[in-house]
Amino acid sequence: MRAPVQKLADRVASWLIPIVLVFLVGVFVVTGDVSKVVTLLIFTSPAELGLATPLVMIAAIARAARTGILIKGGLYLELLARADAVVFDKTGTLTANKPEVSQIVAFDAALPEAELIRLAAAADRRSAHPLAKAVVHEATRRNLNVPEPQDFEQVQARGVRATVEGKVVLVGNPALLREAGVAIDKSVEGTGQTPVHVAIDGRFAGVIYVADQLRPGAKQAIAALKASGVKHIVMLTGDNAATAEAIAEGLDIDDVKPNLMPEDKVAAIAELQQQGFKVAMVGDGVNDAPALARADIGFAMGGGGTQAALEAANIALMTDDLSKIVAARNIARRAYRTIQENLWVGVGVVHALGITAALMGWIGPIEAAFIHLGPDILVFVNSSKLLSVKIPGA
Ligand SMILES: [Mg+2]
Repeated sequence: MRAPVQKLADRVASWLIPIVLVFLVGVFVVTGDVSKVVTLLIFTSPAELGLATPLVMIAAIARAARTGILIKGGLYLELLARADAVVFDKTGTLTANKPEVSQIVAFDAALPEAELIRLAAAADRRSAHPLAKAVVHEATRRNLNVPEPQDFEQVQARGVRATVEGKVVLVGNPALLREAGVAIDKSVEGTGQTPVHVAIDGRFAGVIYVADQLRPGAKQAIAALKASGVKHIVMLTGDNAATAEAIAEGLDIDDVKPNLMPEDKVAAIAELQQQGFKVAMVGDGVNDAPALARADIGFAMGGGGTQAALEAANIALMTDDLSKIVAARNIARRAYRTIQENLWVGVGVVHALGITAALMGWIGPIEAAFIHLGPDILVFVNSSKLLSVKIPGA
């Protein structure tokens, strides 16, 4: 596939050549001056037209690669430069998908916060569940001495049951406690957080709230995208509305769409495209792959991204740094501008001046041959600038 701007260059070349031939024959018929016709011939052959676009794309793709951004083709530079809607997946993309303890509520004064998390972490330490890992991580962060449990049992889809320092400790969801005969006699709320229920010796002792954390730089990346001309930012997630809103809070997101299945993500992209948006989508998971393929531009997170997402995407980030999306956008915009400069100034203006000078008889074929190198050099230098010029984030 070729970039639209490249197709433009090809189209221009296809109608330019017959026009040039008619023009040259006309000049010869009127003036009978062979030298003038040769001079004009030099200026009317648009050799740089073929260079103007590919050179920029090579330079831009190289610049991006050096920044940790893999762009799978020049076509995507132009689409990215013109994108005006950016759609983010939530978990693993805007968030790090590493849940952390956000709040601890202890119900019993005899069992304060630190003791609650210490016993819960002891029960959880052999579990591989992300919520259990968050609890253990919090105890470690607080430098608590977490003992080995005397016995440990993972209860499918419920949580864990363990004996710690002679106490029976349950850590999990309400069903785990209820099925063990523990009354859930305190109100549990958690807007956008996952409550982990803890019972000790048959009593509901407290709740440890766990929440996924926003990636550092998410807010700045979204603000920078808006500043670069993106009109609409959307967040998609399979999670419920409360969890989605908790993450979106404080971010300049125009639309939050929760409770989505993978096919709903594709539909959300298609809907934006129907509204006339050029859509860039950023995702990490297998469930994002169809939407990444559907979007005009798909970005896959590199570090935590799945193989499916990396394959479906047009641009892969080598790290999970959201600022690289802004950098890619800036490189693309700069490249698009450079192509236009090359076409209009390098090719258009220089040729127009050369043709004028030839018609006026100011220069002959020898001078023309030398001057004609000008636009080639201009296009080359202008394109190479992309490798070194200051581009925010790159
Ligand atoms: Mg995800």
